[in-house]
Amino acid sequence: MPLCRYKRGCNQVCAYCIVPRVRGRERSLHPDALAAQLRRLADEGYQEVVFTGTQLGTYGFDLPGTSLAGLIRRLLDETYVPRLRVSSLQPQEVSDDLLALWEDPRLCPHFHMPLQSGSSDVLRAMRRRYSPRRYVQAAETIRQRVARAAITTDIDGSL
Ligand code: SF4
Repeated sequence: MPLCRYKRGCNQVCAYCIVPRVRGRERSLHPDALAAQLRRLADEGYQEVVFTGTQLGTYGFDLPGTSLAGLIRRLLDETYVPRLRVSSLQPQEVSDDLLALWEDPRLCPHFHMPLQSGSSDVLRAMRRRYSPRRYVQAAETIRQRVARAAITTDIDGSL
């Protein structure tokens, strides 16, 4: 299954993560390039493509008039890969506009939302941008808006 990386680098600088140092500042790949890549994969017969990258929810922050919801809408409209999956979102990136896209059955109802810790203090020390309460709100919103949604997570078990 191909991974379609549509964002590189990261501006968040979580306290424990080396990605911003090794991959540099965040940048979004242009929607034209991504649509062309997806058409090529569909032509080659791939049945599922996973959109991946760092901080996917902020896709388009550096491309005027572009957003993650707009990109996914365009890729659904202009390509015909049978299944598309978004690899991960953070709680603060979950919005009604974005979730409305899952009315299209080609989008897999799978949401990977890293929690990392259930402690507000630990999340602050990690420099994460959400609280445990915000996480629960985002999970409840997903379950209300998307039928049969599966929510998976990461938690640091060493703490
Ligand atoms: S958002 Fe992800 S990639 Fe960016 S610094 Fe935090 S853990 Fe690393």
